Amino acid sequence: MQKKRALALQAAWGAQPCDHPAFSKEYDLGERTGSYVCTQCGAIFSFREKAELVAGRTVTE
Ligand SMILES: [Zn+2]
Repeated sequence: MQKKRALALQAAWGAQPCDHPAFSKEYDLGERTGSYVCTQCGAIFSFREKAELVAGRTVTE
């Protein structure tokens, strides 16, 4: 997901709580930034933050 799109999502989502159900790799000007974006609320996470969120989740898939 482009960073611009993430910022637009953040603006649309506002201050609602989000449990960040899915992530997309973040791109800025076509380059990977190494960060991840929540596809629901547009929050941006570092690789480590994203890994911890996913690891701490109790999901059976
Ligand atoms: Zn989210």
